[in-house]
Amino acid sequence: MTTFGPAMPDFTELAPGVRRLLAPNPSMMTGPGTNTYLFGVAEIAVLDPGPLIEKHLEAIVDRSAAPIRWVLVTHTHPDHSPAAVELAKRTGAKLLGSPAPLGRHQDSTFRPDRELIDGDRVTVDGIELEAIHTPGHASNHLCYRHVQLNWIFTGDHIIDGSTVVIDPPDGNMSHYLASLAKVNNRQPAILAPGHGELIRDPARAIDWIIDHRLQRESKVVAALRAHPGLTVRQLVPHVYKDVSEHLYGWAERSLLAHLEKLADERRAAENSGYWSPT
Ligand SMILES: [Zn+2]
Repeated sequence: MTTFGPAMPDFTELAPGVRRLLAPNPSMMTGPGTNTYLFGVAEIAVLDPGPLIEKHLEAIVDRSAAPIRWVLVTHTHPDHSPAAVELAKRTGAKLLGSPAPLGRHQDSTFRPDRELIDGDRVTVDGIELEAIHTPGHASNHLCYRHVQLNWIFTGDHIIDGSTVVIDPPDGNMSHYLASLAKVNNRQPAILAPGHGELIRDPARAIDWIIDHRLQRESKVVAALRAHPGLTVRQLVPHVYKDVSEHLYGWAERSLLAHLEKLADERRAAENSGYWSPT
């Protein structure tokens, strides 16, 4: 599922006042690990401090070398936000973002001091960050646009070298595709993802993702026609012939997301767990 590039450095200065720290949590789902971004020099906003790892928290404070005023998160999955509360406690920073919805795989410790909604702006050391609501991977997902550079920090909405899991009910494929178009419409110069390296050709990367999702959708439609009346689990091998069996659990979640999108569009229907085309 993941095809990340060569090993990433632990610390990188990406642009004046924009730095990236790599959390030491590499895995199949997180690639090289979670990217934490620091904005500002005289004062700091931290984006996505990652899971609660003492060594990483210390690195964030050391590298900041200035008062940390804000801790922002893109969303509340366990590899992005759990260190936020502890970091705020140590530094007096305020938490900014969207609260965790109910459900599994959510960090319910994250309760923002200021809830951000689409279009809200945060200023740190002269840098303006604009929140862009991008539901799909997670219903409370926010991307952040660095207004002066027109870079978009994409969390798990768009990552480098891989596709992200859309896990219903909080994950939603129709919303995901609409949110991809929303980011593309800003014509960002660069995407800075939550996992992996900078994406320097955003329009091409986004087109590839949309194309990949729609190709998968057409495989779903073909499988439904060829094998009507199967459960989601039974459909997986017909739709994900290219995916190894140990990933079928995740494939099943994504397949359900595709089926729900087709049901919303009245192209598929479910009856007692069995799916058919309409
Ligand atoms: Zn996530």
